[in-house]
Amino acid sequence: MIGIGIDIGSVATKGIIINGDIQKKTIVPTGWSPRDAGQAVIGKLLDLSGIDRAEVERIFVTGYGRVAFEEADKTITEIKCHARGIAELYPEVRTIIDIGGQDSKVIRLGDNGQVVDFAMNDKCAAGTGRFLQVMATALGLDVSELGDNEEPGQTLSISSMCTVFAESEIIGLLARGNPKGGIIAGLHQSVGKRVAAMARRMGVQAEVAFTGGVAINRGVQRALEQELGYAVIVSEACQYTGALGAALLASKS
Ligand code: ADP
Repeated sequence: MIGIGIDIGSVATKGIIINGDIQKKTIVPTGWSPRDAGQAVIGKLLDLSGIDRAEVERIFVTGYGRVAFEEADKTITEIKCHARGIAELYPEVRTIIDIGGQDSKVIRLGDNGQVVDFAMNDKCAAGTGRFLQVMATALGLDVSELGDNEEPGQTLSISSMCTVFAESEIIGLLARGNPKGGIIAGLHQSVGKRVAAMARRMGVQAEVAFTGGVAINRGVQRALEQELGYAVIVSEACQYTGALGAALLASKS
């Protein structure tokens, strides 16, 4: 069955089309219209795969913008989609730590990849991709440059928990001549500490997979591993985990 999975996130809309063993993926910024972003992803996936819209049997959608996307055959929660995506890639995983643009989640999986429990922080920007985007701007960098520019040996702890106060703290640290690399390492440590604490409250169990756009940032991975005390698995397509789960559910009956 040819199926498409779309994850309409707060920052990025990700899509995967599955046709037998062939998978194609694409990503666009969500912008102001989740519906337009979803449509754009479908168009790109059809172009990439050379498949006609009429040949696609099912489109399943997840992510915060899913309710606005009427073209989908079904909406599915991000929790279910992440669990499905990771169960396919890494059946040995028992805990998923997902950090996206506006929330962070910890999902515990059972032996068959089923969701046993989950927790979500969507009340506060600290510990999310948004926090890192705001801080990157304050540092004159793009969020994609943070990972390569940290200096863990010079980590400067960021004491403010609130995003607005942390931004002022960083501007103050820069004004006093502190090195950017140490500040960046401190930011990664702050995100790692917050999310690891949530994971511990949930009874984190190995193996742990780290998903979402923030998992692209090797500095956050490093900090998270330091806080947890062991390595986490990051797939090459970590930002697509939700879209992969939706596509697998859409393409397999
Ligand atoms: P959402 O589903 O809410 O749109 P994503 O899981 O797509 O969120 O993650 C978006 C976040 O990922 C951004 O806020 C940013 O912090 C981070 N991010 C995206 N691309 C990169 C990159 N190339 N390098 C580092 N971080 C990134």
